[in-house]
Amino acid sequence: MDILNYTEEHHEFRKRLRAFLDKEVKPYAKQWEEDHIVPREIWNKIGQQGFLSTSISKEYGGLGGDFLYSAIVCEEMASTGQTGLAATLHSDVVVPYIDEYGSEEQKRKYLPGCVSGDIVTAVAMTEPGAGSDLSSIQTTAIEEGDEIILSGSKTFISNGIHCDIVIVVAKDPAVENPYNSLSLYIVEKGTPGFEKGKQLEKMGWHSQDTAELFFNNCRIPKTNLLGEKGFGFLMLMGKLQQERLVCAMGAAYGAQICLNQILEYCKNTCDASGKPISKSQAVQFTLVEMATDVKIGRTFVEKLIADHMGKKDIKTETSMAKFWMTEMANRILGRSLELMGDFGTVEINPALRGWRDARVTSIFAGTNEIMKFIIAKLMKL
Ligand SMILES: Cc1cc2nc3c(=O)[nH]c(=O)nc-3n(C[C@H](O)[C@H](O)[C@H](O)COP(=O)(O)OP(=O)(O)OC[C@H]3O[C@@H](n4cnc5c(N)ncnc54)[C@H](O)[C@@H]3O)c2cc1C
Repeated sequence: MDILNYTEEHHEFRKRLRAFLDKEVKPYAKQWEEDHIVPREIWNKIGQQGFLSTSISKEYGGLGGDFLYSAIVCEEMASTGQTGLAATLHSDVVVPYIDEYGSEEQKRKYLPGCVSGDIVTAVAMTEPGAGSDLSSIQTTAIEEGDEIILSGSKTFISNGIHCDIVIVVAKDPAVENPYNSLSLYIVEKGTPGFEKGKQLEKMGWHSQDTAELFFNNCRIPKTNLLGEKGFGFLMLMGKLQQERLVCAMGAAYGAQICLNQILEYCKNTCDASGKPISKSQAVQFTLVEMATDVKIGRTFVEKLIADHMGKKDIKTETSMAKFWMTEMANRILGRSLELMGDFGTVEINPALRGWRDARVTSIFAGTNEIMKFIIAKLMKL
């Protein structure tokens, strides 16, 4: 029995999304990778077709879909060979903060644009001196009358260049306990004092606009506080289960795509004797091990999607999945390149791009060491 129950509507949605990606994304993926950015209009195109923020209720222009729609988008996007159109990050990581913690006014103002692609979102936690340890965040938020003044800088922010709004994590310097000092603020593009810095040149995720952001006495209205003041840390923690799950899903789907490609490659590439290399027992054993890894990963991820949809507390399991799935994807991509020999090293080979992109997944969204640190705590070790 399948773990996930996709309905006819889900299948129809996947078909439409696949057709959209075949026409509007895949043919341009290589160019976007070379440009180190995707065109801003592609966000509008994908949004107008109803593929962004599918979980947002119809009241705010969304589909009101369940998490299986997110899973479909995550899986289909994994096959596009580009990372710049980060639909899953926008729809399933950032926008849910507004959807869950936003005031009615904030939801009416921002959610319809998040669905249509008129608003691209980012979340800014990381700073030059604060990555894994959020308690060392230095960006300050000081109230003055009806305004809040933000000062500080953020780095490695996905969608940093294209973002129209960014959710900024900042602290009230008057509060001593760092965990009670953090709050979330919505900052709009063009606000005086908010500057987008340079785009970072990375080893992978070339088409993704990862950037530095600067806040120099950036004044925002008090109404741009997201959720309750001082609850920033708790709000971030509350959303991490889904963030880790989608990261694990992306890794599992990416590994599956890579496996499908390498199986075809080994069946269709001959060795010096003229036999397909898949007939060699050494290659067969490698492929069997890879297929086993992918099968185990996919089964676990699907179980977690079902549990997440059932609103179960699976923080331990999603942390396990984040580190295991990203390590597994790295193993699969690395072994694929070995099997491809010299073809594994050339830029036209999509597996090379995948290998580069997989490398970073053990670092972002909480490093894999941090995942183990969390699991050890949850296991009360
Ligand atoms: C492509 C990309 C996109 C990103 N997008 C975003 C984004 O949109 N928004 C955002 O806010 N951030 C983003 N980040 C930042 C990312 O979340 C951080 O890189 C990550 O949290 C790790 O922080 P750090 O690099 O400062 O490493 P550090 O925290 O300095 O860690 C360095 C090393 O020490 C280890 N370590 C640290 N603490 C512990 C501990 N307690 N126990 C064991 N080991 C530990 C880490 O595992 C790591 O190996 C992105 C990063 C990348 C590369």
